[in-house]
Parts: sequence; structure tokens; C-alpha cells
Amino acid sequence: MSSLQRSASHGRAGPRLVEAAIAGDGRHIGLPVAAPLPRDVAVSFEFFPPRTEQMERNLWACIERLATLEPAYVSVTYGAGGSTRERTHATLVRIRQETPLTPAAHLTCVAARCEEIDEIARRYWDAGIRHIVALRGDPPEGSARYTAHPGGYAYAGDLVAGLKRTADFEISVAAYPEGHPEAVSPEADLDNLKRKIDAGASQAITQFFFDVDVYFRFLDRARAAGITVPIIPGILPVTNFAQVVRFAGTCGAAVPPWMADLFAGLDDEPETRKLVAASVAAEQCRALHAGGVKQFHFYTLNRADLTYAICHVLGVRPRRSAEQAAAPLGGAGP
Ligand SMILES: Cc1cc2nc3c(=O)[nH]c(=O)nc-3n(C[C@H](O)[C@H](O)[C@H](O)COP(=O)(O)OP(=O)(O)OC[C@H]3O[C@@H](n4cnc5c(N)ncnc54)[C@H](O)[C@@H]3O)c2cc1C
Repeated sequence: MSSLQRSASHGRAGPRLVEAAIAGDGRHIGLPVAAPLPRDVAVSFEFFPPRTEQMERNLWACIERLATLEPAYVSVTYGAGGSTRERTHATLVRIRQETPLTPAAHLTCVAARCEEIDEIARRYWDAGIRHIVALRGDPPEGSARYTAHPGGYAYAGDLVAGLKRTADFEISVAAYPEGHPEAVSPEADLDNLKRKIDAGASQAITQFFFDVDVYFRFLDRARAAGITVPIIPGILPVTNFAQVVRFAGTCGAAVPPWMADLFAGLDDEPETRKLVAASVAAEQCRALHAGGVKQFHFYTLNRADLTYAICHVLGVRPRRSAEQAAAPLGGAGP
């Protein structure tokens, strides 16, 4: 165990140590990329509901492969404007009925009355789904601005309170290391996160980010503001760089210049792009782990390969094959 790993396992090493480990005077002094990590990482995976039969087959192949990593839970998104209400529900119920995984349902406030939302939540509870990722939601496609439904929950904090009144759900909420684009100030955004926790959420999942220090600075500010729940980094393995740049622009996440440089010239090189993407995300996760992070939420985009590879680097392996690997060569005979 390196000194860096030792200090991380006794609490968060913090951004300074991460910087020292990966930058310092230019030497690589504490973050040996190939060294195995202690098996102390928990992961969760996010999927979106499929639109076609082909997408459904792909999703299930993805779920089957990632299920071997025994995630803490898997979540399914709720399309902008509530557009996937039934597909989200059907996907979650199938996960609940056909797999040993723990499902978590994303639910938003958009375009629905409180009673409708409460009814959706009750259906989830009755189907055995006890974890909700509670969000305000983005406006439906075509509308530029979010407007609260006149009879609906206005913000995620209101939704959390409503869900808690409906049943004793476990609730996760969104957090924004770089600030939510509509927040009036970083402080107001943190106050909002605190309101969501005070209303009954037990953890937050972050918007994706690429600069590890941005996450650690946010974590420090959240802790100083009295937010004590886990704030789990949301990891987006980049498969299509141009698309990520567009998406990052709308949700207020910065794409560092070094990333543009890394992906430059790879538009027609999907295999190389994949290798680069896996290495970028794996490095990001190892730096987070070196800073004490033990839980990761992956935006899988319904693709198993990159997430599986990054989990492998993080020491998250299928238990069965780990046991096989640990078994003495030649079997148990004398
Ligand atoms: C992990 C994760 C999963 C997501 N999944 C989905 C999904 O499945 N479907 C989907 O449509 N979108 C999803 N999103 C996107 C999310 O819906 C958007 O980012 C949305 O714009 C904000 O949602 P929120 O829950 O953070 O909103 P809120 O916490 O309600 O905050 C939204 C904005 O309003 C401000 N605010 C909050 N309360 C008040 C108040 N009382 N008065 C004035 N301002 C206030 C906040 O500071 C913030 O700027 C997800 C985001 C994340 C990070």
C-alpha cells in the first residue's frame, strides 16, 4: 500500500495531496496507475429507458454484464418533461422482477400535478421500488425555460418532501460541483442542496465533471455548509466528445482544454476514442479515490464496455471470477 493509498484509506487525502501525487515537480510520485486498489469501492449505474426493441436488447445485454459487478443500485432516468413515464416504470419493474439488482427510479416535477406524481411514487412503492432519485427536471424538448406546473411540485426540494409524505423512500438528489446554470449564486445553490437533504434526501449524486479539484472544492464547501450526507461523483465516460461538449454547455459543466486536445483527430477513430475515453475516466476515478472517494455513480449511456473497464481498474470485479482467480492453481486436490 503506497503512502497515498494509506492516507486515503484513513480519510480524504484532499486536493492538495492529489495534486502533489500527479503533478508536483513533474515526477510521478504516488499514483501508480497499474497498482491494484484496495477492494473498497462501491458503484452504481444509471441507464435510460429504451425507445425501440433493438435498444431494449442492448440495454439488457448491458444490464446483464454490469450486474456481475454487484452495484449498490441501478437507476433509470425519467425523460425530459416526463416523456418516458411508462418506459421508465416498465424498465424498473423488469429490473426488480428479473434481476437481483436494487432499482432506483428517477422522478421529476415537470408537467404533472402533485397528485399524479404521488400516484407514480405509490406505484413504485407497491412494485417494491424503494429508492427515488428526485429531480426538478428539465423542460420538455422545444421549451427553453422551466416553468413549474401550477398544481405541481415547483422544485426538487418540494418533491422530496412530497415523496417522504407518500412513503418512506430512500431519496437521492442532484448536486452541481460547478453550480446549476440557473442558480443565482453558488451559495444559493448550496442552500438549495441543503434544503433537499433537510427535506429527507440521504445522498446526492453530482452532475458530471472532469476536473477532480472542482469536485473536492465543492465537497469542502458543502461540508462547511453543514451538508454531511454522501456526495457521490457522477462519472461520464466520454464516447462522443462533440456531443459531450454540446451537453456540457447546457448543464454548466466545464470541458477542460486538455480534453479537447486528447480527443482531437479521433472523430473517425472509434476504437482509439474508446481507449482514450477509458483511460481519461479511469485516471479521474483513481485521483478521486486517492482523495478518499469510495462511491462512484456511472452515467453508462446504456453501454457496458467503458464502465466495466473503469470499474475493473477501480478494483470492482465480478465476485465469482475473483474467487476463481483466488483459487489455487490446479484445483483443490492434493
Ligand atoms: C444525477 C442526476 C440525474 C438526473 N436525472 C434526470 C432525469 O432522469 N430526468 C431529467 O429530466 N433530468 C435529470 N437530471 C437533470 C436535472 O433535472 C436538471 O439538472 C434540472 O435543471 C435541475 O434539477 P434539480 O433536481 O437539481 O433541481 P432543483 O434542486 O430544484 O434546482 C433547480 C434550480 O432551481 C434553484 N432553486 C431551487 N429551489 C428554488 C426556490 N425555492 N426558489 C428559487 N430557485 C430555486 C436551484 O438553485 C437550481 O438553480 C439529472 C441530473 C443529475 C445531476
